[in-house]
Amino acid sequence: MIYADNAATTKMSETAINTMISVMNENYGNPSSLYRFGQQAKEVLEKAREEVAAVINAQPREITFTSGGSEADNQAILSAAALGKKNGKTHIISSAFEHHAVLHTLKKLEKDGFEVTLLDVHENGIIRPEEVAAAIREDTCLVTIMYANNEIGTIQPITEIGKICHEHNVLFHTDAVQAVGHLPIDVNAQNIDILSASAHKFHGPKGTGFLYVKKGIRLTNLIEGGAQERGKRAGTENVPGIAAMAAALNEATASMDENAAKLSAKRDRLISGLREIPHSALNGDENNRLPGNVNFCFEGIEGEALLLLLDQKGIQASSGSACTSGALDPSHVLLAIGRVHDVAHGSLRLSIGEDITDEDIEQIIRSVKEVVEYLRGFSPIWRDLVSGKKEFIL
Ligand SMILES: *Cc1c(COP(=O)(O)O)cnc(C)c1O
Repeated sequence: MIYADNAATTKMSETAINTMISVMNENYGNPSSLYRFGQQAKEVLEKAREEVAAVINAQPREITFTSGGSEADNQAILSAAALGKKNGKTHIISSAFEHHAVLHTLKKLEKDGFEVTLLDVHENGIIRPEEVAAAIREDTCLVTIMYANNEIGTIQPITEIGKICHEHNVLFHTDAVQAVGHLPIDVNAQNIDILSASAHKFHGPKGTGFLYVKKGIRLTNLIEGGAQERGKRAGTENVPGIAAMAAALNEATASMDENAAKLSAKRDRLISGLREIPHSALNGDENNRLPGNVNFCFEGIEGEALLLLLDQKGIQASSGSACTSGALDPSHVLLAIGRVHDVAHGSLRLSIGEDITDEDIEQIIRSVKEVVEYLRGFSPIWRDLVSGKKEFIL
């Protein structure tokens, strides 16, 4: 079995699993309890907060633990919007290829009277900072742009975007779920005000994430109840998950450069191998992308059929985000970079992890070649393309 869907979720590292088990066994107290067991759990929680903060060059008090990336995105955006509204600022800038946790939250705000500008991500899947500057208005309260895209892996110029935001006194949030643990992050040097992260994208457990919120920015709490997380996120903390997240993040950070070098070499081999398939194209910028991300379109086939046949050959991949797999709509990310519907339907995302071997990579290339050729053999769209009834796009 070859697992090539690390952008959807990753396998927990052994260190993270062991940390989780040990905390469940030994630190099962409630961190809000005043007796020793509670205080021991509280210590575990605060140690994790210090570790997470250190990795991104933040202060521990600037970290709020959440149930994952989606909750972090919702809370970040709704908080910035609430602050903006107080000052009569109800304009938000984002991009067309954000994660749905961002896009759907923005939709909700539009119903509440906010105006949203979605920036063009161009053919290469990269936002131009000068277009952020041009879109900022007197009433802009927030710019929310992801660090790296979850489908096509393109890395955004967030340091420049953050700088522009600060010059205009606008808050900058980045959904860094695909970047944390994979790319270096320094919230101060990179001008980030609010950042979302999720443990299960860097070999930590599912259902755990965090928000970085720069000191002085007031969070709105989405969940009412107890005073956990400085009153900004009620509910007994997921202490084992949070401790395991910190362990996974430390581990990923320690081996980040080495992993990136190894993965990007394998990624590039995968890209050059798949490029040999006629009428195919890589999606997203070739150089400025996550070390483990490969995303292709193959003309004349259906991505869903491709996935099912690859699954039969033991290869686990995706046609886009896990949230849209199963739906018939083509990926909003591929449409945003200008792929037409027919072409966007024939997409394949391979997101490789650290333990993939060179032999696995060759196996993927062989299998994708076979399956694409097989599917084209009875595709009516392919027949029209070959007979000249329809024109090739790729
Ligand atoms: C996975 C992902 C999310 C959602 O994170 P969850 O922890 O699964 O809620 C948000 N944004 C991006 C870019 C992602 O890849």
